[in-house]
Amino acid sequence: MNLVLLGPPGAGKGTQAEKLIKEFQIPHISTGDMLREAIKNRTELGAQAEKYMTAGELVPDEVVIGIVAERLMQSDATGGFLLDGFPRPVPQARALDQFLQENGKALTAVVNIEVDPQILIARLSGRRVCGTCGAVYHVETKQAKEPGICDLCQGELIHRADDHEETVKNRLAVYSEQTEPLIQYYRESGLLLQVNGEKSIDEVYREIIQELRNRVDP
Ligand SMILES: [Zn+2]
Repeated sequence: MNLVLLGPPGAGKGTQAEKLIKEFQIPHISTGDMLREAIKNRTELGAQAEKYMTAGELVPDEVVIGIVAERLMQSDATGGFLLDGFPRPVPQARALDQFLQENGKALTAVVNIEVDPQILIARLSGRRVCGTCGAVYHVETKQAKEPGICDLCQGELIHRADDHEETVKNRLAVYSEQTEPLIQYYRESGLLLQVNGEKSIDEVYREIIQELRNRVDP
């Protein structure tokens, strides 16, 4: 199962990723984590990436692609993988296709978790996070027993700057601007699998599994 997982902030992508890698016994390849790892391990590509990140610049496609290609060559990824955070711009998607083809592989599907932006805004802007232990709450769907106080450690609940409504709207706009061409690219190549992310975690998961099974064994 060679998968790419897409979804805007607040769509539950991380949760679905965890379930999918367990189900299919494949590694979760997150480019954000990998970049940090490559830098920590002082690989040649990691050193290049660090140079850009320290300067506050985007890491160029060829560096990101190099790091992903190195990762996909490792033995645990030969039976499948789940890519998260990569590709983003269409040239990265083309480079991925080319790399897989050269290695006799191809993507099985690109799972895109869709959620109405109004729902995402409500989900994200209602989030409160414990400043001490990091536990996550929500003003409507997961209230603390005592308002503003963490159930687990009595720490103070914080409304992170990232979760303020204007910031959320901005994050969503940036995401959709970046990924719209990518979604179109995968739609045209017949790999796109649209999933309604407005249902419960388990319902969304069942839909993904069913669609993937149909695709692999119609
Ligand atoms: Zn806490």
